[in-house]
This record gives sequence, structure tokens and C-alpha cells, in this order.
Amino acid sequence: MLLEGLSGHQGWSRAWQKAAPKSRYRVVIVGGGGHGLATAYYLATEFGITDVAVLEKGPLGLGNVGRNTTIIRSNYFQPANVRFYEFSLKLWEGLERRLNFNAMVSQRGTLNLFHSEAQRDLFTRRANGMRLESVDAAPLDRAAVKARVPLLDLDNGRFPILGGFLQSRGGTVRHDAVAWGYARAASNAGVDIIEDCEVTGIRRDASGVTGVATTRGGVGADIVCLAVAGHSSRLAEMAGFRLPLETHVLQAFVTESVKPVLDLVVTYGAGHFYISQSDKGGLVFGGAIDGYNSYGQRGTLPMAEEVAAAGLTMMPGLARLKVVRQWGGVMDMTMDGSPIISKTPVARLILNGGWCYGGFKAIPAGGMSTAHLIARGEPHPVAAHFDLNRFANGRTIDERGIGPFPFLH
Ligand SMILES: Cc1cc2nc3c(=O)[nH]c(=O)nc-3n(C[C@H](O)[C@H](O)[C@H](O)COP(=O)(O)OP(=O)(O)OC[C@H]3O[C@@H](n4cnc5c(N)ncnc54)[C@H](O)[C@@H]3O)c2cc1C
Repeated sequence: MLLEGLSGHQGWSRAWQKAAPKSRYRVVIVGGGGHGLATAYYLATEFGITDVAVLEKGPLGLGNVGRNTTIIRSNYFQPANVRFYEFSLKLWEGLERRLNFNAMVSQRGTLNLFHSEAQRDLFTRRANGMRLESVDAAPLDRAAVKARVPLLDLDNGRFPILGGFLQSRGGTVRHDAVAWGYARAASNAGVDIIEDCEVTGIRRDASGVTGVATTRGGVGADIVCLAVAGHSSRLAEMAGFRLPLETHVLQAFVTESVKPVLDLVVTYGAGHFYISQSDKGGLVFGGAIDGYNSYGQRGTLPMAEEVAAAGLTMMPGLARLKVVRQWGGVMDMTMDGSPIISKTPVARLILNGGWCYGGFKAIPAGGMSTAHLIARGEPHPVAAHFDLNRFANGRTIDERGIGPFPFLH
């Protein structure tokens, strides 16, 4: 590394091989985001299936995997979701060693604030549910919250902070390093990673899927897996069916770098706002989705103002910081707010999607359970409840309990 630094960085070898598409693979994965790459990696390393291609329409890492606010946690309410996201958190805990890649997994803790007695009850119920699944969750009183986050204004904000609930094993991971780490490890295991290769059609006959049409020619496959996040509905349409989800924009923001002021992830309970400090010093924050359907990776000013208002209510000191970057990503928001890892109406066409705006933390578990479904033909036990049929037979997993309104999840 020192030598490269002194010689103009000309001698580095490629992290993953630049493959060209072959005419046929056993498995074709559409989408080189976190879930597509993780699925390919686990297919090769856990299930011994290496005749796999990942087809990505652009360069790797420019989708949501490189656009999120990097938060990982397993503090969910529904027991089946707690189990799935805890499985993911455990995989994060060993991921860097396994991939031999520094993804900057930082279990600095995630703190959810509450602002009313009713909210305290709700969070206590959630924490108790987590503990029943042997997942860490600790209530914090006002003094403990202030001690952990001196930046917070407990009393003068619009909604006084009464306390919080902490998952100390939650935290952040450097988002694009996750794409790079899985890509390098999958490529080393024999997977073809093919960038600048957009899938433009799904080929099928009476027996099911037979391959895909791409901007670089047709590619045959025994099994095709869609892992295209906000583009899931477009790819499903190419295959001839509709999905119970809508695509919405979610924005994120980063301020100029400052000295360390925040050493854990904090979420505001009286609105939608979450914030952490990156290792470079910028405060990284976001809020709710913009609330209209779009495939455009950019957001609108009204939501930027709403997010800033929530942030200043909670931490008035943020007012002195300049926002240096803002961007958007396209979110695959389902009718119940939970993801889909499932077979589809087309035989041998598998779907990994519906991640809403929480799919980053799920990448290791999503990849592992999608690979399991492809290799074994049956769902992984921790992801069986994410079957697409749940929408038809009324077994939805409404994590937030707010009904079939994608923009509210
Ligand atoms: C602003 C923001 C903040 C977020 N914050 C968090 C967070 O803090 N924690 C968390 O858990 N989650 C968060 N998320 C959500 C999380 O990023 C996503 O749910 C997750 O990354 C989606 O899975 P993915 O990585 O596979 O998606 P992507 O990276 O979007 O991968 C899908 C890929 O498919 C490709 N593709 C699409 N169509 C085609 C085609 N026709 N042919 C070939 N390739 C195609 C795309 O180019 C893309 O690279 C956030 C998202 C955003 C936008």
C-alpha cells in the first residue's frame, strides 16, 4: 500500500474480475446491489453453486446499497421479523472476517427516543418482545439519554424527550464497502459479475423462466432471481405479473465534517428522523419517504425541510452546520412494510425485494435466505414468512400496524 501511494496507484489488481456475459448460466441474478451480490456469494460459498452471473445495469454500488444511511439493527416488533433481522445482525458481526474486507462494521448502538407515556409503553412492549427472542434491548431514562447524547435538547424541543430504548449491538456499516466486499468474494468464488448490462426482458416458455434479454444479448438460465429493489415492479411487469408494492423516493443528507459529537445512532420518536456521525465527521441523517411514486433517484425540497425541522427540534445545535450533500434512492415499498423473498407466479423465477427503506441491514440474511431458496427450492426457516402468497391469503406482516398503505410504511 505504501509503495502504491508513492507510485501513483497504478499497480492495484482488480477487486473483482470484469466478466462478459456467457450464453447460459445455472443461475442469473438481476441486480448488483447488496442483496444480489450477497445472494451470489452465499450461493457459491454455502451451496456450492458457482455457475452464477450477476447482471447489473450500471456500475456496482450506485443503487440503494451505496445510497443509504448505513444503519443496522434488529429492534423490530413482530417476532418473525426480530428473528430475521437478528440473524442478519449476527452475520454482520462475522462478515468482515469472512469476506476479508473492512466494511467498517461499527456496533455503536441505536437509540430510539420516546416522547409520551403511550410511546414508552409501545417501546417497552417491543423491547420485551426482543428479549423473549434473546435480543438485547435496554430502556434508558432521561438522565441516561442525556449522558449518552449531550447534543439532545430534552426539554425545549416541541416534543420533550422522556427516555429512550437502546439496542447496543445496532450501529452502522460503510454501505459501499458492503457491495465491494461481497463482489470481490463472490468473484473469487467463481461468480461472473457483469456491469453495464441492463436486463430488458424476461424470457419464458410454458414451463417457466428460460433466461433474460439484456443490452449485451440474451442470457439463458435455469433459474433467474430478481434483486432490483426499487425496480422490482418493472422487472415483474417484464415477466408478466404485478407485485403488491409501489416505488417511492427516500432522501439522505450529510453535513460538513465536525469533531466527534455523536457516538451512536439516534432516532426521533415524534416524527421521522434518524442521525449518526460518519467516521469522516459528517452527520448523516434522513427521514420519511417523499410520499409520491417515482423511479427518479432524487428528492424534493418539502421533505428536506421536514427532515431539517425534525432534526432541529431534537438537536438545535445542528442549525449551525452546513449540509454538503443530499441524494435520493428508489424504495420498493410493500403493502405491509415487510420484504418478499419468494417464488413467483413464473416457475424458477425467484424474487428478492420489497425492502422498503430498511433493506440495508437485511443484506446478509436476505442474501443467505435467497440463496437457500434458489439452491434448495424451499424457503430458509428465518425467511419463510416473506412468501409472496401472504398477500393473497391474508397473512401480511404489518410491522408498524398501519394497514395496506405503502407510503406509510
Ligand atoms: C436514502 C436511503 C437511506 C436508507 N437508509 C437505510 C438504513 O439506514 N438502513 C437500512 O437497513 N436500509 C436503508 N435503506 C434501504 C436500503 O438501502 C435498501 O433497502 C437496500 O439497499 C435494497 O437492496 P439492494 O442493496 O439490493 O438494492 P440496490 O443497491 O438498489 O440494488 C438493486 C440493483 O438493481 C439494479 N437494476 C435495476 N434494474 C435493473 C435491470 N433492469 N437490469 C440490471 N440491473 C438492474 C440497480 O441498478 C441496482 O444496482 C436506505 C435507502 C435509501 C435510499
